Amino acid sequence: MAKLKFKKIKKTAYNTAIKDLKTEPLWNDEMINTAELYAEHLMEKAMSFKHEPHISFEIKVDLTDYIPEGFGFCDCIMLGDDTLVITDYKHGKGVPVKAEANPQMMLYALGALKLYRPLYGDSIKNIETCIDQPRLGSYEIWHCTAEELLAWGESIKPIAQKAYMGFGEYKAGAWCRFCRANGQCKAQAEQRISAVEDFARNPDLLTPDEISIALKKGKELAAWYKAVEEYALELLLKGESIPDYKVVEGRSVRAWSDQDKALDALIEAGYDRAVLYDYVPKSLAQLEKAIGAAKFAEVAGQFIVKPQGKPALAEASDSRKAFNSAASDFANLN
Ligand code: SF4
Repeated sequence: MAKLKFKKIKKTAYNTAIKDLKTEPLWNDEMINTAELYAEHLMEKAMSFKHEPHISFEIKVDLTDYIPEGFGFCDCIMLGDDTLVITDYKHGKGVPVKAEANPQMMLYALGALKLYRPLYGDSIKNIETCIDQPRLGSYEIWHCTAEELLAWGESIKPIAQKAYMGFGEYKAGAWCRFCRANGQCKAQAEQRISAVEDFARNPDLLTPDEISIALKKGKELAAWYKAVEEYALELLLKGESIPDYKVVEGRSVRAWSDQDKALDALIEAGYDRAVLYDYVPKSLAQLEKAIGAAKFAEVAGQFIVKPQGKPALAEASDSRKAFNSAASDFANLN
C-alpha cells in the first residue's frame, strides 16, 4: 500500500501482490486498513520535509560495524533536508513499542547512516526514528542528532562484541520475551526472584517510590512466570517430569458438531426461529470497517459519542494525556 501511494510500484503489481497475500493462511482483511493508516502516516511524514525527500522501502542495512554478522531491514527510510527518518511498521497489538532510545531502531538508523553517508556525507545532521503500530493506535517518534547516534554506536561496540563471543553479562529485562531462552534462563530467574526478595526484606507499607518499582518489577515478574509456565508445560508434554507438577486437561466448553443441522432439528421440533436466533446490529467498529471510515463518519458520525474512559494506571511515558479527575467530576455541569 505504502509503495503504491509513493508510486514505487504500479497498481497492477499491487493488485497481484494483494491477490497472492489473500491466499496466505495469516491473511486478514484488517491488514488493508492498517496498511492504509501506515501509508497515510508516511505520506504526512514526507509532506513535513521542506523539500521532497528521498524515500526507499524495505532496505537491508549492514550492522556489522557494531554487531558481528549483524544486519536488519528498515521498512521505510526517508532522507531530506538534513534529516534521516526511519520508520518501522509493527503489526502486533500486544505491547506498544516505545521509540525513545529504542536500541533496535537506533541500530537500524546506524545501518541507514552507513548506507547513505557515502552519498550525503555530513549533511545528515538529525535522526528521527518512528514506530508505527496502527492496530494499537500507537505512533511513536524519537529524535537525536547523527553525532549522538554515532557516539551511542561506539559505546555499544564492546558490549555487542562480548555478547557475540559469549562473554557478556546476562541482564534480564523486557527484551527477554524476544530471547529463545525466555523462561529457561537461570540469570533471568535469579534476577526476577531477587527483585521480589528485596521487597520481602522490608516489613513496612510500600512508599510511593517502592510502589513505582513494584509495578515495573511485578509486570516483568508476571511475564517471566508465564514464560516459565509455558516451558514447564512443554517439558511435561515431552515426557519429562517436574516435581509437584503434572499436565491435566484444560477447561473446555460445549460446541455444536453441526450448528446448521442442530438448528434445523429444533425448528422441525416446533421451536420458533425467534427463540433460536437473536437479531442484533453489528458493532460500531464492524460497521465502520464494512462501510469505510469516511462514509461511515458522514452518515452515522453524528450519532457517535465517546464517553470518558475509566481511570487506568499507565506509565508516565504513555502517550495519552493524564486523566483529569476534576474535569470528569464536573463534566455534566453547564
Ligand atoms: S532470557 Fe537470559 S539470555 Fe535471554 S535476554 Fe534474558 S537474561 Fe539474557
